[in-house]
Amino acid sequence: MQIIEMLAPAGTNCRSGRQRTGFRGITVHNTSNWSKGAGAINHANYLRGSGKNNYVSWHYVIDKDYAVRCIPENEVAWCAGDGNGDGNFKTINIEICDNSDGNIRKATDNAVELCAQILRRYGISNVSGHLFQHNNWTGKDCPYDIRRGNPYDWNTFVNKVQEKLGGKPSPSGPDQILTAGSKVRFNGVFKINEIIKPNKKYPNGAVGSYQTCYGAPCGTNDYIPCGPIGICDFNGNNVNYNGVAKVGGYWKCDKIFTVIGVELPTRYTKNGVAILEADGVRFRVDCGPLYEVSNS
Ligand SMILES: [Zn+2]
Repeated sequence: MQIIEMLAPAGTNCRSGRQRTGFRGITVHNTSNWSKGAGAINHANYLRGSGKNNYVSWHYVIDKDYAVRCIPENEVAWCAGDGNGDGNFKTINIEICDNSDGNIRKATDNAVELCAQILRRYGISNVSGHLFQHNNWTGKDCPYDIRRGNPYDWNTFVNKVQEKLGGKPSPSGPDQILTAGSKVRFNGVFKINEIIKPNKKYPNGAVGSYQTCYGAPCGTNDYIPCGPIGICDFNGNNVNYNGVAKVGGYWKCDKIFTVIGVELPTRYTKNGVAILEADGVRFRVDCGPLYEVSNS
């Protein structure tokens, strides 16, 4: 599969230039356009022609040969039908072509590959909670073909993406249960909501991210020591492990931690809490953003 760029013209209805406000994952669609010739490049050309006047767009349209980027990933594409909701504003939208003279199996396999590439870039190794059907946002019967098992069903699609990412496929299974000794890594890119400058306790400084602090402002022992983390951009790119943390910036972390202890879920910590250590400091993290990696 070749990824090519044929961007829609900026400043049009289909490409407003509004910035995405976060990243929850990828929303998958089928074009439901069975016309002959309605492949990826034709769809990209449509957004460069009359389609530019409509509030309908997609980041990628994909067929048996090409994944065509029509809207930059950091901008909003009007695809999920949920207005200012997370589908439009916090996911990357992919349209899979189902034109009658195409190859739906190859196009869908290409979409699997593209999803894995994007999630990997965002530091996500467990697809659970990061792949959405258009249907999840509005109830629309989309992705039409996948929802009918053509060429395979949604669970198979999700499992294929997980296989490409490595790790154990558990997209629809029960939540992981961490215990002392579990090996985990951070799953995703996190916004920096608070910082602590280097001091006696935190020799490299520390950051607070509400995603790792049960969605709430962080408290004592909830800050992440800066030693193992990398400062990056919103998309998880340009990682700098010696970068200086700033409020409003982003971080990710590839290090594998050993869980020292766990706290069971409470009203306020629905996912439970794991106790980890870095820079000689123990800290508490919401288990939600942690991904268990196998010991082998
Ligand atoms: Zn759709």
